[in-house]
Amino acid sequence: MTGIFQKTIKQASQAARLINLDKKLIKRLITPQRVVSKKVIIKLDSGGNKTFSAYRVQFNNARGPYKGGIRFHPQVNLDEIKTLAFLMAIKCAVVGIPMGGAKGGVQLNPKELSFNELERLSRAWVRAFKNYLGPHQDVPAPDVYTNPQIMSWMADEYSRLVGKKTLAAFTGKPLTEGGSEGRELATGQGGIYILNEAVKKLGLKLKGVTMAVQGFGNVGYGLAQLAYQAGYKIIGLSDSQGGIMALNGKNMDPLKVMETKKEHGQIHACYCLGTVCDCVNYKKITNDELLKLKADILVLAALENQITGGNVNQVKAKIILELANGGIDPIVDGILKKRGVLVLPDVLANAGGVTVSYFEWRQNLKNEHWPESAVFAKLKKIMTDSFNEVWQTMEKYQATPRQAALMVGIKRITEAM
Ligand code: GLU
Repeated sequence: MTGIFQKTIKQASQAARLINLDKKLIKRLITPQRVVSKKVIIKLDSGGNKTFSAYRVQFNNARGPYKGGIRFHPQVNLDEIKTLAFLMAIKCAVVGIPMGGAKGGVQLNPKELSFNELERLSRAWVRAFKNYLGPHQDVPAPDVYTNPQIMSWMADEYSRLVGKKTLAAFTGKPLTEGGSEGRELATGQGGIYILNEAVKKLGLKLKGVTMAVQGFGNVGYGLAQLAYQAGYKIIGLSDSQGGIMALNGKNMDPLKVMETKKEHGQIHACYCLGTVCDCVNYKKITNDELLKLKADILVLAALENQITGGNVNQVKAKIILELANGGIDPIVDGILKKRGVLVLPDVLANAGGVTVSYFEWRQNLKNEHWPESAVFAKLKKIMTDSFNEVWQTMEKYQATPRQAALMVGIKRITEAM
């Protein structure tokens, strides 16, 4: 029983038993409704063909059309996609949006494909799965290494196949192609709303609370910027190559770190404001060191499985915001609880992304365009209400926050079933 799907399902079944769910219903809840595996073939620029393994798992649609991202990554496999599809169903239920859960993927390193090859692959994926897609059936979105450009190709291919412009078939599209205001920042913004509530509950003063962020892509960088603007003190930042930490009570503006990264090709050891660099109060750190920094808040915004049995006891943060799906190995949740670390689990922490996807879908269906202020006002209410619901459940059952989120999600899904 080592696979991530088995571990996740075991944890969900435990949560389901805490709310006295019937065994037969648990069995249905943890069984995917449809698993589709395909081989997708594209023409390479060099003239030859290449075949890729591609997947879509539609886990549960009791609450609405299937919803969830498509990832392009070398490690994509069915066990992982099944897990993430299940977590999408839970996530949509936790934030109360009327969508089910799905996930898709292609096993590849997107950095090895040219722009044109990537377009051919994106369109080929849609052709392979077209019978299972559609605004009222299954609505994909971006995930790891997929982006608005890819969603735009996919929506275009789908529209071509069905013979009419169907914007609501995909979300996370560019603004000019029916995307929603606020979608790019939505995951980070949703995370900040959750974090602000948690900080209040723990009685911490927001100004000066220290934060380390692992991951400097769209989600991690977005969150770090919003957190800096809100008054959190950024003392550590890292990407897949390594990172930078601030010493002697110093702070960092993520925008400046990004500017210097662009110039040097990786996060620089010094903190620079234009050409003036401070190399005394800042130093280079590894990703592993970042996870163990003495920061009040640790944000996981990179890949899965970052906090495990191997490093859990060295984590010094009071709060972990799990923006990356599966950032924490579920088996260490209990240890973190015992050590007094508050985990804000993925299905709550990163649900801002799918929530604004849902707003995008609704806008497309009704041919509307909402201003960013309206998007964020609605998002804030949803995230804050969901946090409170999970918090109350956690206190009522003396559960971990992840168990509580699972209980909230499972209750809503099984009621709909
Ligand atoms: N890939 C994101 C997630 O894991 C967003 C999914 C969506 O917008 O449908 O939540």
